[in-house]
Amino acid sequence: MSDSFWALGWAGLLGLMIGSFLNVVIYRLPRMMQAQWDADTGSQAARGQPFNLAIPGSHCPHCQHPLRWSENIPLFSFIALRGRCAHCQQPIAWRYPFIEMITAGLFMGIVFQHGWGFAALAWAGFASALLALAAIDADTRLLPDIITQPLVWAGLLAASLGISGIGLQEAVWGAVAGYLFLWAVYWLFKGLTGKEGMGQGDFKLLAGLGAWLGWPALLSLVLMASILGILGGIGLKLRGQLSDNGELAFGPYLVIAGLWVMAFGPLPGLHA
Ligand SMILES: [Zn+2]
Repeated sequence: MSDSFWALGWAGLLGLMIGSFLNVVIYRLPRMMQAQWDADTGSQAARGQPFNLAIPGSHCPHCQHPLRWSENIPLFSFIALRGRCAHCQQPIAWRYPFIEMITAGLFMGIVFQHGWGFAALAWAGFASALLALAAIDADTRLLPDIITQPLVWAGLLAASLGISGIGLQEAVWGAVAGYLFLWAVYWLFKGLTGKEGMGQGDFKLLAGLGAWLGWPALLSLVLMASILGILGGIGLKLRGQLSDNGELAFGPYLVIAGLWVMAFGPLPGLHA
């Protein structure tokens, strides 16, 4: 077996494990934030058992049956259990193996592109943060600061250390322009319609994408995310799944655009 075969194999295995961890973050982080808000406002709901990324241990959300180690192996347990809880036979959400496989695929692509090293680790961290943000936004319409803000700083650091291959100037202006662009769209939309078209987390997410991918990629990012968002909105509307106020999480579309530009660069003809 050649070295590159093994390199990709290890990347896929690491991706499955990180993907499994991302599933925990996606499920628990919004609930932890809710618990914190409840605690801050002195609400009844705050008085409960400790709940964080580690406690309680993984369990079936239907019957609370704690998972044995053999039921908690990324992807393989889902296949071995044929997608059902061993205890109550309720189906396990497809999202879990899906996130694990997407993470594995992204990690393999990143290692294929960069080989093992700091660049691969940095881009793997970038991709992981984006996946968590996309799923959390789709579930809850939240883009937690605890992920978006480090994303911006890490992108600037990676540029300054020469790890991301983006110049520091391009990264700084990517972060600034990314934030300001959606901020301006937000206020324009609010001024014209009196409604909030997007959440403030979207500004920070595009700032992060700008820091990692550089300001010349912003036009591609925004255009691609907008087209995907419109298509996604039409798709949800046709299936009757669009929320009553017609609001749409924009984060997942920004994430898809960001991962696309990471892998293939800006759209042809749109690179400033
Ligand atoms: Zn169960």
